[in-house]
Amino acid sequence: MIDLRSDTVTQPTAAMRAAMASAVVGDDVYGDDPTVNHLEQMAAEMLGFDDALFTTSGTQANLLALMSHCHRGDEYICGQQAHNYKYEAGGAAVLGSIQPQPIANQADGSLLLADVSAAIKPDDFHFARTRLISLENTIGGKVLPQQYLADAQQLAFSKGLKIHLDGARVANAAVAQGLAIADIMQFFDSATLCLSKGLCAPVGSLLLGDEHFIQRARRWRKMLGGGMRQAGILAAAGELALTQQVARLADDHANAQILAEGLSQIAELTVDRSLVQTNMVFAELDSKVDPQLLTTKLAEAGVRISASKTLRLVTHNDIATADIHKTIAAFKHCLAHV
Ligand SMILES: *Cc1c(COP(=O)(O)O)cnc(C)c1O
Repeated sequence: MIDLRSDTVTQPTAAMRAAMASAVVGDDVYGDDPTVNHLEQMAAEMLGFDDALFTTSGTQANLLALMSHCHRGDEYICGQQAHNYKYEAGGAAVLGSIQPQPIANQADGSLLLADVSAAIKPDDFHFARTRLISLENTIGGKVLPQQYLADAQQLAFSKGLKIHLDGARVANAAVAQGLAIADIMQFFDSATLCLSKGLCAPVGSLLLGDEHFIQRARRWRKMLGGGMRQAGILAAAGELALTQQVARLADDHANAQILAEGLSQIAELTVDRSLVQTNMVFAELDSKVDPQLLTTKLAEAGVRISASKTLRLVTHNDIATADIHKTIAAFKHCLAHV
């Protein structure tokens, strides 16, 4: 199966499986797991922060960040499309008593800083206390420009707010711009990064920040059931995600371009190629085609996608360029027969 639903479907590499099998482990809740400790230290150093925390998922890492920056009755400003607003089951509100203040994302994924500024509440007991701005990079596969991040940081600083990066796919943003991940994270007080997406680790994310922030996050992680014991088995793969899998993302980006170009030739699909900047291709399906039927036909032809009017196709380590050509041919064949 050519599985284009997400880069979360990636299998751990052979090197990861070997490292996992031989990882030296201990009880991480006691701070005794040398492999987890090494991953956290290495990540903090590599990404330009004082400290790091290995978490079960990106959702948990984002929630820990929100709960460590904000208290009950505080709010964070984010995009309507932000993962940590729209796709994390309302965790900040449910578990943190933190009010989201979502504002519209622009077509390029950014938030207009004038909108952000207008949403910041004055110090008045009628309002929740605005504490944090949260951005996402990449967002919907799109890269936020470095100057924009610098301006957002400046805004946060001038208003006395903290600024967080949901960097689930920040490695893709870095590779797309020929930058180090640290070059992007430098504008943020805290950041998350998923090891388990394009970087191929089976499980886990990282949360980065200063020492006191990570101490608070460690307490919340324990409370939320995220204190894992011999977690070095997972951290061993996570380390290879950071050291061996980042540069390779360029292949996924090249494959996404080939896919976008091929699909844009098909009458029933509309692809805005300017939005294909990393490993995601979005294709609008002609309203006459039933997405579920197309998905079923494609599955029969060996291509797995999620049914939607707007198809999201994600390239990753388990998709070779030959698979991209097969996918384009399968789309042509199936759309001629639905
Ligand atoms: C996937 C994702 C997350 C959450 O990661 P999980 O490990 O799936 O919980 C957070 N933010 C963004 C932008 C993501 O794409």
